[in-house]
Amino acid sequence: MGTVGQMLAGNFAVVALFVLLWSRTGYWLKSVPRPWRDGLFALSMSLGTVAAMYMAVEIQPGLFFDLRHALLAVAAFFGGWPAAVVTTAIASIYRLSMGGDGGFAGIVGIVVASLLGLAIPALLRNRPRDVGQLAIMSVLSAVGASIAQYLALPSGTLSLVDAVLPNSIMNAGITAIAAIVYLRSWRLSADRELMATALFHAPDYAYVIDASGRFVAANDAAARLVGRDSATALIGKTCFQLLPPEAAQAHHSQDQQVLTSGKPIIDLRSQMVDASGQLRSYSTTKVPLHAPDGGTIGLVGVMRDITVAQQLAEELTLNRDTLSYALSEMNGGIAMIDSSGHLIFSNDRYRNSFPYTGHLRVPGADMRTVLAAVIATGEQLTAPRQPDPQWIATTLTHLTSQWDEEVQLFNGTWLQVRVHTTSNGTSMVLVSDVTRFKQAQDELNSATDQLKQLARTDGLTDLLNRRAFDESLEAEIRRSARTGTPLSLLMIDVDHFKAFNDHYGHPAGDACLRQVAELLRASLKRPADLAARYGGEEFAAILPDTDEDGAYLVAEAFRRAVAQARLTHERSDKGIVTASVGVATYMPDNLERNALELAKAADDALYSAKAAGRDRVFGARVAGKERRYGSY
Ligand code: GH3
Ligand code: MG
Ligand code: MG
Repeated sequence: MGTVGQMLAGNFAVVALFVLLWSRTGYWLKSVPRPWRDGLFALSMSLGTVAAMYMAVEIQPGLFFDLRHALLAVAAFFGGWPAAVVTTAIASIYRLSMGGDGGFAGIVGIVVASLLGLAIPALLRNRPRDVGQLAIMSVLSAVGASIAQYLALPSGTLSLVDAVLPNSIMNAGITAIAAIVYLRSWRLSADRELMATALFHAPDYAYVIDASGRFVAANDAAARLVGRDSATALIGKTCFQLLPPEAAQAHHSQDQQVLTSGKPIIDLRSQMVDASGQLRSYSTTKVPLHAPDGGTIGLVGVMRDITVAQQLAEELTLNRDTLSYALSEMNGGIAMIDSSGHLIFSNDRYRNSFPYTGHLRVPGADMRTVLAAVIATGEQLTAPRQPDPQWIATTLTHLTSQWDEEVQLFNGTWLQVRVHTTSNGTSMVLVSDVTRFKQAQDELNSATDQLKQLARTDGLTDLLNRRAFDESLEAEIRRSARTGTPLSLLMIDVDHFKAFNDHYGHPAGDACLRQVAELLRASLKRPADLAARYGGEEFAAILPDTDEDGAYLVAEAFRRAVAQARLTHERSDKGIVTASVGVATYMPDNLERNALELAKAADDALYSAKAAGRDRVFGARVAGKERRYGSY
């Protein structure tokens, strides 16, 4: 049994040796062309198989037990058809050369182990080579090969259990271990390949230098940066041999810093003239490489060209500075508010526009807080006096939508607040001081009012002038027709006034006219009544909502007031100034009304009063039967 144990251990050693050999050397052979590499793999696995068979344990005469199935299955599993064919062929030839009763069975086992090693990845084509696959492959190939080998034996040589069990278990275990080692090294080399590809084809300049500052590896971009065609031209050189002295010195001191401190330099900004003579900006990162014992054995450097990015960043900063300068120097106040009601930006002008809350109106401020302070301080006359969440909510809505309003502050200042919204929900608030404009507007308004007043007033008597009378009469006619109310008009003429003028002179005539005007004004008791100077020494009065009896009373009261004033008029037969009045009225039964018609009727009545001897009131109802009044 001692010999069996030694032989088995030898078998293990052989399998382990070949598996390790390949897993170690596989990556270093990556530069060898693929068919050669596959051939080498197949040959080395065949060699391992033969060695395992050479050290086989002879359980019974002619019946050998060894770990050949494990190597065969692994060779087929990782090497595919070519490896399977080569190993199967070599192993079979060797088995035949060994002779013995089990020769045929041995070859059957060899073929089945290889076939199963091939079949598993073929069957599980869509799955990557993982540990589960390996486990299935190991068990199936070991058990399958052992059973096949047993079935091919001349009958009765061995019991099934003796022939299959130890052989299957040993081979399955060893296949699994060997396969896992392979898988690991396969993955490792794939990872290394991936990293190398990523690094060496990256647009950044990547390189590795050793502790003495010599290049160990570099990518093509790094080679081009220093004006070389390929990375191999850099290997073994120092930066002094590749860069201008100044740049080389700078890099050398950075490298020394990393190598001696063992700490990385990250994102160091520098400028360098490239191979074409252009000044460019770079971001450099240098990371130390540590040996397993912790010492620094070199460094990995990655340089990135940030010339364009930096130019963009500089342009952006310049634009932003220019913009904020423009905004801060703007003649008006400007603020930006986001859709949640928070201030994003405000210029000095904006803050200075609000004496009590300006200090709160800074970026980040919640406009709700600012508006609450507006109420609390009484800064704005148009704001409520007491806390008012409704007003705050409404104002906030205005500040975040298209809006335009004028607000007055406690100190009389008027601010125009204009809100424009942008597509991203931000609103732009423009505030301008419109106090002077407002004052000018008020002054203009009152001047206009005065002018209008003047344009409607008679200069001598301050009554309405003829133009205002005409307008008022038209308006009152329309209103009375609409409401179906009566309307009366008095036409007044001072008697023998030409004689008065001639006797007393024009200025005395004017004074007399002013007195008569004053008496007329005093005779009109209702606010709606209007007195006008119709022209010369003629006056008129419009009496809305007044029927003929009422109009007569007013006319008569006026006539009597003139007489009772006892203004001396020596050239009149009565010795005093008197006036005649013609009255015309639209009653509710007549809604077809017309200013000219009414004026004409009143004038006719006045003419009648003159003809009847003056100093009296005569009347006419328009379009009705004429009715005349005598004087008292
Ligand atoms: P009658 O009783 O028929 O009305 O006689 P009268 O003299 O008043 O008639 P008439 O209409 O012919 O004369 C009007 C005079 O009134 C003419 C003018 O001397 C005088 N008069 C008209 N306008 C003014 C005015 O603005 N100021 C002054 N002082 N006199 C005026
Ligand atoms: Mg007259
Ligand atoms: Mg007259």
